[in-house]
Amino acid sequence: MEIKCAYCRKPIEQGKEVKNELLFIQGAQLARKEHDYCSEQCAVHHQMANEP
Ligand SMILES: [Zn+2]
Repeated sequence: MEIKCAYCRKPIEQGKEVKNELLFIQGAQLARKEHDYCSEQCAVHHQMANEP
């Protein structure tokens, strides 16, 4: 199964994925969801784009 970066949508080589828990507001609650990224950079950018 191919893993894609949650931010830039590029396919990630197996074993190279960077896991990051994203915090976001769902209704009135703070929720967290784990995503896979191709790099730290993408994880940081995605978190910033979704900052509550
Ligand atoms: Zn990426």
